[in-house]
Amino acid sequence: MPDGTSVAAETLLSVERLEAWYGESHVLHGVSISVRKGEVVTLLGRNGAGKTTTLRAIMGLVGRRSGSILFEGRETIGLSPDGIGRAGIAYCPEERGIFASLDVTENLLLPPRVRPGGLDLETIYTLFPNLKERARSPGTKLSGGEQQMLAIARILRTGAPLLLLDEPTEGLAPVIVQQIGRMIREIKARGFTVLLVEQNFRFAQTVADRHYVMEHGRVVDTVANHEMAGAMDRLHEYLGV
Ligand code: ATP
Repeated sequence: MPDGTSVAAETLLSVERLEAWYGESHVLHGVSISVRKGEVVTLLGRNGAGKTTTLRAIMGLVGRRSGSILFEGRETIGLSPDGIGRAGIAYCPEERGIFASLDVTENLLLPPRVRPGGLDLETIYTLFPNLKERARSPGTKLSGGEQQMLAIARILRTGAPLLLLDEPTEGLAPVIVQQIGRMIREIKARGFTVLLVEQNFRFAQTVADRHYVMEHGRVVDTVANHEMAGAMDRLHEYLGV
């Protein structure tokens, strides 16, 4: 899809000069990113570059943060994690957080709805038939790929328009990575907006409109997806692959 399609769309998330600390450790140093409605945007970078911390700081899950995080034009920097969730930002952490003792349907029904427009159970099962097949399976019996799909599907129910996904492909076999890719494209087609942390830029290229590259807690580059081919040399350098 041409990247130009989203140029005129309104900005959904605008992060400006974001600083974040874990205790005494100063991890983010003035991160500025923006995500327009309907876009899929990635944060790329090596281990420890600050990608996860950026998502956690947007959710208010770091020790301390400063700067500005406008969501739908409203400042969220003073809100609690719960308030940020209710404002319409959903977070799918790398560890997925599936409840082992609950089955797939129960896991799906767990997060509270924050606004209308979330997908109902039937739609989720139609879109992701793998999950439907496992509807009665407890979390413990799911493969890594099924757990990841469930963790993403679960936040689609809430109606949050902005989804923060932390490395959904990590540790998954290539065929499952392709399924996750299809899932993200489907989510975008349904009008959701996604900010995605990835180390795998080949995967990122198949789902995203734009990419930010992070190093040492800073954004050091930004690449539109249609410019990826020409940016391969510098991406290899940044990402060390
Ligand atoms: P990864 O893919 O390894 O998660 P990342 O780009 O997401 O990489 P972060 O997890 O955001 O990087 O880590 C950024 C820096 O913050 C690293 O130096 C890391 O050691 C540090 N850090 C992360 N979590 C904590 C924590 N809970 N307490 C203290 N320091 C932390």
